[in-house]
Amino acid sequence: MTSEDNVWRELARIPADPPDTRDKCQQCRRPVQVCWCPGLPKQRLNPASRIIILQHPAEAKRCLRTVPMLALALESGKCLIFRGKKFPLPKHEGLAEILNDKNTILLYPSPGAVALDTLDPVGINEQKAYNLVLLDGTWPQAKAIYHSSPALYFLRACKLIGVPTSEYVIRTQPTEGCLSTLETGASALSILEGDPELREKMLGPLHYLCFN
Ligand SMILES: [Zn+2]
Repeated sequence: MTSEDNVWRELARIPADPPDTRDKCQQCRRPVQVCWCPGLPKQRLNPASRIIILQHPAEAKRCLRTVPMLALALESGKCLIFRGKKFPLPKHEGLAEILNDKNTILLYPSPGAVALDTLDPVGINEQKAYNLVLLDGTWPQAKAIYHSSPALYFLRACKLIGVPTSEYVIRTQPTEGCLSTLETGASALSILEGDPELREKMLGPLHYLCFN
C-alpha cells in the first residue's frame, strides 16, 4: 500500500462532528489539526455564475462535508445553500425565483440531460451567468430530492461527461465515478465559465487535506 493510501485511510476516520474543543478553526469550524483553510484561494473567487446547493438535511452529518469548502472559496452570494428534502418551500427565500430563471440549470442525470460542455460558456453567444443547481447528498438522497421537487423537472438538466473518478478518496464513494460536491461544483463551474484554472483553485482545500 502506498503512503497516499494510508493518508486517505486516516482521513476517512475524521469524525463527522468534531468534538467541541478549544482548538477549533474559527473559519471552517474543524479542529485545527484537520483545518483545510490554508488550501483556500488567497482571494475569494468571483465567477459570473452562481452555485445553488440543495442539501439533504442528513448530508450535514456525513464524514467530510465539502460544501463549506465550496462556500468559503467563492465570494458570498456565489454559493447559496438551501436545506430540505423538497424544494422550493416557503422558507427557501429567493429559491423559487432562481428556479424560474431561464439561466438556471440542474446537474442531474435525468434521461434528457445533456453534456454540460455542450452549453455555451458565459459570454459566448450572449450567454448570461448561470445558476448551477447541485443536489447535495448521497445518490439515493439526491434522487429522493429530485422526485419530491417537481419544480426541478422543468430545469435544463445537464451532466458532467468524462470527469475522472474522485482524486480524493476521502469519503466512501458509493459508486465508481462518484465525486464530492466540491469536485462536481468546481468542474461544472469551470466549464460554464470557460475557465479551466477555476477548478484547480477551488479544489485547493481538498488537495491541502490530502497531500499535506
Ligand atoms: Zn479552518
